[in-house]
Amino acid sequence: MSEQKQYLKSSKLITAHYGEEYEHYYNSIVPPIFMNSLNVFETLDDYFDFDRKDKHKYCYGRVQNPTVRILEDKMGALEHGIGALAFASGMAAAVTAVLTVCRTGSHVICVRNAYGPLKTFLDGYGKEHMNIATTYVDGDRVEEFEESITDHTHLIILESPSSVIFSLQDIRGVSELAKRAGAKIYIDNTFCTPIYQQPLDLGADIVMHTTSKYIGGHSDVIGGILVVKDEGLMNQLLANRELFGGIVGPMEAWLMIRGLRTMEVRIAQHEETAMAVAEFLEKHPRVRKVNYPGLPSHPQYELMKRQQRGNTGLMSFEIDGTLEMATKVAERLKVFKIGVSWGGFESLVFLPHARMGEADCRALRGDKNIIRIHCGLEGTEALISDLESALTY
Ligand SMILES: *Cc1c(COP(=O)(O)O)cnc(C)c1O
Repeated sequence: MSEQKQYLKSSKLITAHYGEEYEHYYNSIVPPIFMNSLNVFETLDDYFDFDRKDKHKYCYGRVQNPTVRILEDKMGALEHGIGALAFASGMAAAVTAVLTVCRTGSHVICVRNAYGPLKTFLDGYGKEHMNIATTYVDGDRVEEFEESITDHTHLIILESPSSVIFSLQDIRGVSELAKRAGAKIYIDNTFCTPIYQQPLDLGADIVMHTTSKYIGGHSDVIGGILVVKDEGLMNQLLANRELFGGIVGPMEAWLMIRGLRTMEVRIAQHEETAMAVAEFLEKHPRVRKVNYPGLPSHPQYELMKRQQRGNTGLMSFEIDGTLEMATKVAERLKVFKIGVSWGGFESLVFLPHARMGEADCRALRGDKNIIRIHCGLEGTEALISDLESALTY
């Protein structure tokens, strides 16, 4: 087996060494940050004939950068794609994917629990400027997608598990359906990371990650990634990234490469702590519901076992009580700090539905008082005892 092939079989080898060419930078074990906006050429022909996909040819930083390229090679390999493209944020990646696949008048099917700002984009800009029509589905059953497909359905947007109520979609089932309908499947894989789920293998066309979460892993960087398995789609996305100008900066890419190296060990610890926290909450008399796909009581536990290898540190729960009581619980927590985002070293708590109307809460299947927590790396005992005191009233 070639060294390359051997590397591709191991996520640990990929994050440690794959995509790096030590001989190009004095055998440094850590690649340099190519803090560079342009490259120079010997002749004009060299410039005009330059191949944008040649890994050793660069011309301008909005097109490609060697540090960014290392991150992309690793992500492409981890997700079993043909390549990846890195963006300045998860939303830059998401919007570039939508604008590449959709055209004026496209129909999109999107899970109702998808990332909020992406839905805002579809319903706002997408609808107003491109006449995009979006049908929202719960997404638990493949039939819901089947019933929603029209002749103009070009894109199906999944997020499995979704990041507030942690509902899953049958990626293989929906992908087979999409293939027959000629639609592309886009899936936000941020919660699982490529370590716990590889949607391209299950039939998805575009995998999206915000690297602001576990890939960065230290709450110090914003970024996004798209991974694909089709050459044609890759070329279109690459061309559009250049035109839209959304490439990530080299410094951020370098931080993401560093984050990737420890991601697998970090998420294993996030998972171990989250399982213990979920079990603690599930038994707590003040808690009426815990949403965590690692719990055997999760309604889609069997599907989770089929398509995921694990779960990470994010979950939500509902207390038996009002929004005011849930707010007090969040404010009484000491180790868990109030804040959005997740995936870093720190524990966080947030009430994503606190300012939402009752009807919207019902549609999203999470109460107004739903509490989302991210279990960080401060230690299982510290987190459980923090929750224990906050729930004592
Ligand atoms: C944070 C988040 C995003 C958006 O990523 P940004 O890097 O903030 O643009 C998308 N999807 C999910 C599930 C997220 O949690």
